[in-house]
Amino acid sequence: MASADSFILTYHSLDESGSVISVTPQLFRRQMAMLNASGRKVVPLELITATPNAAAITFDDGYVNFFDHALPVLDDFGFPSTVFVVSRLCGRQSAWAGSGPGRPLMDWGQLRQLWSRRVSVGAHTATHADLRNLAPGAVAGELDECRCEIEQRTGRKVRTFAYPYGAADAQVRRIAAERFDWCCGVELDFVGPAADPALLPRLDMFYFDSPSRFARLVEGNAQQYVALRRALRRIRAMIPFARF
Ligand SMILES: [Zn+2]
Repeated sequence: MASADSFILTYHSLDESGSVISVTPQLFRRQMAMLNASGRKVVPLELITATPNAAAITFDDGYVNFFDHALPVLDDFGFPSTVFVVSRLCGRQSAWAGSGPGRPLMDWGQLRQLWSRRVSVGAHTATHADLRNLAPGAVAGELDECRCEIEQRTGRKVRTFAYPYGAADAQVRRIAAERFDWCCGVELDFVGPAADPALLPRLDMFYFDSPSRFARLVEGNAQQYVALRRALRRIRAMIPFARF
């Protein structure tokens, strides 16, 4: 059996708030330095299923702090990345169910600059809706509006997508797969050649806030830890209000 040892990292906001979606800029720089020192290949998301022993780097929501804190570090190491944006909220504040205090989101002028700096812009719907709650026509509308707006405003093709909240049922997955080549979820797992491009697993950096744990990941020694966290998440999902 081929081992699935490539992975996709998920970041959201780089800030000091200590929230569940935040990594500090200092820790991010340290993590990228560890990734660089490990010798592991960092590839665009579009190549991750075809590249063994690789990492891809993704950022959900498109916060301005990506531009301020992540981009300079990614530039220093020459790492490609993907940012998933919410088209109707570009240049405004995050304001969706569960977003916490609003954070500023990149505007179109900033997003246009990303393509020339190894960052591809992916879709994350028009409004950050939980797509499972919408009728099929409305799901298609959320995806098409977002994709068209990014393509018109940046002049580049959009081939990648991330489900808001990682929320996708069979119908949502089908509608997304008709429109995008690679769709990212939040299932905690590695990515092998057999991964489903309609629902790629990713590793949320919430689970790698300790530098030693991140070091084991980039060195290829985190299979057991990821399997354990995945199992705990599945149990937790069955128990309301459980905290572990
Ligand atoms: Zn999101």
